[in-house]
Amino acid sequence: MESIYNFSAGPAALPKQVLSRAQQELLDWNGLGVSVMEISHRGKDFLACAEKAEADLRKLMSISDDYEVLFLQGGGRGQFFSVPMNLAKRGSFCQHLLSGQWSQIAVTEAKKYMDVDIVAKASLEDGMLMVPQPDQWQIKKDAAYFHYCPNETVDGIEINWVPHSKHGVPIVADMSSNILSKTIDVNKFGIIYAGAQKNIGPSGLAIVIVRKDLLSYSREDTPAVFDYAQQAKDGSMYNTPPTFGWYLAGLVFEWLLENGGLAEMEKLNNSKAQLLYSTIDTSEFYQNNISTDYRSKMNVTFHLNETSLDKLFLSEAEKAGLMFLKGHRFVGGMRASIYNAMPLEGVQALTAFMQDFEKKHG
Ligand SMILES: *Cc1c(COP(=O)(O)O)cnc(C)c1O
Repeated sequence: MESIYNFSAGPAALPKQVLSRAQQELLDWNGLGVSVMEISHRGKDFLACAEKAEADLRKLMSISDDYEVLFLQGGGRGQFFSVPMNLAKRGSFCQHLLSGQWSQIAVTEAKKYMDVDIVAKASLEDGMLMVPQPDQWQIKKDAAYFHYCPNETVDGIEINWVPHSKHGVPIVADMSSNILSKTIDVNKFGIIYAGAQKNIGPSGLAIVIVRKDLLSYSREDTPAVFDYAQQAKDGSMYNTPPTFGWYLAGLVFEWLLENGGLAEMEKLNNSKAQLLYSTIDTSEFYQNNISTDYRSKMNVTFHLNETSLDKLFLSEAEKAGLMFLKGHRFVGGMRASIYNAMPLEGVQALTAFMQDFEKKHG
């Protein structure tokens, strides 16, 4: 099964080296004669593993001491309510940018806890999907926070600029599907959060990077397990954390550091995306209608002009070892998720397949 490439959107591919190391260590972790899943999270062995994972993530993303890094449960969606609950006392309303499916779901959830003001919406312009530039919308001074989703996993939209924080309104970003894919300036954000299963590790874990001055605004009725201040005080161990996910995320962080960190990942991710988009753009057979400035480097969506060939495309792709290319049911067509764990060879295999399929059926 050497040549299988996994284009799943999430849970998504993990680096092979990480999986084989986890396999080697599974029955006897750290010389304890048991697996990492079977020991106390409060023992010195797991604590050391947890601390190293956090230190490595801080190194990778250059996270300063102004921020807490939390390893929580509840995935990405757990943060859709945790953010409004934890920032409730900063204001009576929050602002959201609507750029696709995930930012829409975040709004629906936030509305249960706070009034939500939509600052702007992605829309079609001349048949191309665009996100309005920040000069066309307003961050309000008394907003509790501003929320956006820099990478829309379903739609294949990525926003490469960080909205400027006016009046000290904290910027909150759902980076579930593009965290660790490139270098970013963490200092521009109040909160960054991500469900783990796209670019970090297995599902069940969420990482929250929160500026320390934002830890005192939670509603009284915030459940303790979702209260950032409580979890920060307890080192993310108020409740039992997802220990296996935390350990595996740590292995992924080590793998990233050994492979040149986020700057190297960014180069590789740029080459992968460039190759795939240019294959789509130079063909009459495939299309992508997202404005070039907003094309995701993680989730490349595309359609066959002849949609009756979709099924055949997917079954032939599978025979060629190119797995899970079916687009999200809301969008249709195809989606190739090419997170950090996807090697360039995987994208080369996909583009060669696409060209070959076009020759046969175009
Ligand atoms: C996958 C995803 C989520 C949801 O994550 P869950 O862990 O399933 O709750 C939220 N936001 C984005 C951008 C995602 O890609």
